Amino acid sequence: MSAKHQDLEIQTRIDHILARLREEGFRVTPQRLAVLEVLAASENHPSVEAIYDQVRRRFSTISLATVYKTISLLKEIHEVLELGFADRSSRYDGHKPYPHPHLICTRCGRIQDPELSSLEELTREATTQTGFEIVTHRLDFFGLCNDCRCEE
Ligand code: ZN
Ligand code: MN
Repeated sequence: MSAKHQDLEIQTRIDHILARLREEGFRVTPQRLAVLEVLAASENHPSVEAIYDQVRRRFSTISLATVYKTISLLKEIHEVLELGFADRSSRYDGHKPYPHPHLICTRCGRIQDPELSSLEELTREATTQTGFEIVTHRLDFFGLCNDCRCEE
């Protein structure tokens, strides 16, 4: 994907979230805008702390609490996907706010979105087998990312 196309995609995503916030009657403060800009531009499923570190470069006075509140606002309007982990840490996807599979590197913490063609089939198979009505899913693959594998 070209850099220009990517910028356009990020801007489209930001505009969509802004429209959704206004639709739901939430005010868009410069701090909130900065948080969602970082989230929309980030490729690596950032933690709240990682978002905070980046936003602080522009708003040196912003608090971690403001970042938390903005993220939970976005969660409330279903515009961010939260990936919670057993150690109580969370990572966030601002690009795809709906359930999708993830690849999680157990060494460096990198999280990637694989494009899987057989996910629908897998869901159908599970339904046929059990009669379960599936409404959502959580599918995580754990292992070593390409960079970490090369360092072995
Ligand atoms: Zn890794
Ligand atoms: Mn993702």
